[in-house]
Amino acid sequence: MKFIFVGGKQMGMGFRDYPYKVGLCKMCGQGLLTIAKETATTKLRIICDECDDEYDTPDDMIKGKCLQQPTSTGRCEPPNIEEIIVMGWDSYILDNLSTK
Ligand SMILES: [Zn+2]
Repeated sequence: MKFIFVGGKQMGMGFRDYPYKVGLCKMCGQGLLTIAKETATTKLRIICDECDDEYDTPDDMIKGKCLQQPTSTGRCEPPNIEEIIVMGWDSYILDNLSTK
């Protein structure tokens, strides 16, 4: 997977194109919650592909405990499945995206 950087900002790939979705966003009701990897820290996060609502963990997502100040938007890349399994988040990944 290739990225294009323009002026330090990642272009050409939105969260919508990330492969691992874990749920429907409760905040906006139309976005899908997406597992993203923060490039600088390699920390996994969950981010809505519509409204950029952001969660630290799947547990926070289920509790609706979103971050007050999203930090990762625009500085993430898609994680690979191994990184997700290490975190134990693979069980949250949706198999069928009927909302697409
Ligand atoms: Zn949303």
